[in-house]
Amino acid sequence: MLHNEFMETPFYIMFYLIVSFYGLCIGSFLNVVIFRLPKNESLVKRSSHCMTCGAKILPRDNVPVLGWLLLKGKCRSCGEPISKRYPIVESLNCIVYLITFAVLDFSLQTILYCFFFSALICIAFIDWDTQEMDLRVLFFIVVLALPDLILSVIRLVSEETFRNLPAFLTAANLPLSSHLIGLICIGLPFFLIGELSIPVIEKKFGERFRAIELGDTILMAFGGLLIGWKATVISAFFGICLAAVCGLILKRINGESKFAFGPYLAMGLFLGTLFGEQLLNWYIAWVTYDPYALA
Ligand SMILES: [Zn+2]
Repeated sequence: MLHNEFMETPFYIMFYLIVSFYGLCIGSFLNVVIFRLPKNESLVKRSSHCMTCGAKILPRDNVPVLGWLLLKGKCRSCGEPISKRYPIVESLNCIVYLITFAVLDFSLQTILYCFFFSALICIAFIDWDTQEMDLRVLFFIVVLALPDLILSVIRLVSEETFRNLPAFLTAANLPLSSHLIGLICIGLPFFLIGELSIPVIEKKFGERFRAIELGDTILMAFGGLLIGWKATVISAFFGICLAAVCGLILKRINGESKFAFGPYLAMGLFLGTLFGEQLLNWYIAWVTYDPYALA
């Protein structure tokens, strides 16, 4: 959020209310995506309906979170429970938007990052459910990367034209090199580890699968293209740490050693996008700190 002494408290309250509204409404749409994309159902054709009796959900019951709470999580016509996941996804998306606008300045890039985080929520839940990633959601990330890629090219061709563009567009611009290195810095190692692991796993378990799935690889590549290499490296670090910790816990609980990597990479990408560049700069400054340079 752009902090400015001229902006009054009512402005901030209004602003965050509007952000919450969009967060909840888009969160409601994410539920549709998470539920219908894996089944190849249309996202727009059929209106929301009860999964048990098929009854149409009334517009007043379809209000994000509130509708579910007022119905006490039960269908109005058949009384069967409606999954808690609906209000959870809606509030999660809303909280993610609020955090994003609280941490980052208000710019086009911040709005695009919000859409990126919504895509990550879909990727995480779909991967958790089906152990697969949807290519359409992954390609949506490339679409989100296009505006800043175009701006980076403009900056490279003519610095002057770039400087005359509104700050709303250019404030969070990353150099073209950062986007392109971001595409391969984690994507390529993930791809190679995946390729090399196939014969090893086949020898050991008699099954052909990759240690790192192609979906996870594409997610880190496309995500890297959008957020640049510094944020991507930190994202991968967070993602792998989270997966290691949660993987061990899940193994303890249900004894399953194969699990979806996507949800952890998605969480890593969220943290990396918001704090990665800063964290890596701090780290580089710490590693290269030379106390004698001051003397
Ligand atoms: Zn029903």
